[in-house]
Amino acid sequence: MGWRDGASPVAAGPAAHGPLLRVDRATLEYKAGQRRIRATHEVSFDVWPQDRFILLGPSGCGKSTLLKAAAGFVAPVSGALLLDGVPVRAPGPDRVVVFQEFDQLPPWKTVKQNVAFPLRTAHRLPRREAEERALHYLDKVGLSAFADAYPHTLSGGMKQRVAIARALAMQPRILLMDEPFAALDALTRRRMQEELLRLWEDSPFTLLFVTHSIEEALIIGNRILLLSPHPGRVRAELNAHQYGLHSPGSSAFQAAAQRIHTLLFGEAGTAEAAARRAA
Ligand code: ADP
Ligand code: MG
Repeated sequence: MGWRDGASPVAAGPAAHGPLLRVDRATLEYKAGQRRIRATHEVSFDVWPQDRFILLGPSGCGKSTLLKAAAGFVAPVSGALLLDGVPVRAPGPDRVVVFQEFDQLPPWKTVKQNVAFPLRTAHRLPRREAEERALHYLDKVGLSAFADAYPHTLSGGMKQRVAIARALAMQPRILLMDEPFAALDALTRRRMQEELLRLWEDSPFTLLFVTHSIEEALIIGNRILLLSPHPGRVRAELNAHQYGLHSPGSSAFQAAAQRIHTLLFGEAGTAEAAARRAA
């Protein structure tokens, strides 16, 4: 793990001179009657092409709000979010969100229709092309056999696979994922993490991924932004490209997880500190 060093990882294509997504001192708020609730305070980070960039922090620190701002659903009260240097003003098909909830698929559409529909509406693909592309991405997530099934007949893991296929089929500039595996059982969650990394290795995309799991952040991410509790401020930014699926259990991984825990919660909350108190 290294500190923010300004080094840019793989950047290719016409926009290679700058980050794909720049979040620049973004302060995000909600209005609740007369009150204003500050979700994040002057948060800055850059996401480069093919990053697997993680927003990590405790519940309520503004992770989902940052994702909503990147998606164009929430505008900053100060600061800016820039996609390829252009301020994000509204949602668009270049930014697709995968949520935690299993009910993000319209239940009256089959799996194939769920994946094909946004291709027809947002990309204006003819029905045949949309369906072909849908089947291609369903195959990538291992769900070809379920193309004609309805969402209610699928397990939670399968529904999340459909949501991922639907998002990737859109070929967005950046894929936004908000704790997509948090509601799954531990084994399924692990399998989904493996599949997401396999999909990325197969054909790298740019990912902005929200989680409150330190382990998941280290496994999925190449870079991790640590956010303080409410309102979220940047605590640190770390490199995590050296950790992957087979890292948990290794002493280096444990040490990294411990260090992140200390950065997030301070010395008082660490296992070491607890052991010292017990001694
Ligand atoms: P996280 O995803 O990190 O758990 P959120 O981004 O959902 O955090 O929320 C950040 C803060 O904003 C929290 O204090 C939360 O209560 C508040 N908040 C979230 N959504 C709304 C909303 N629609 N209206 C008012 N406050 C909200
Ligand atoms: Mg959230």
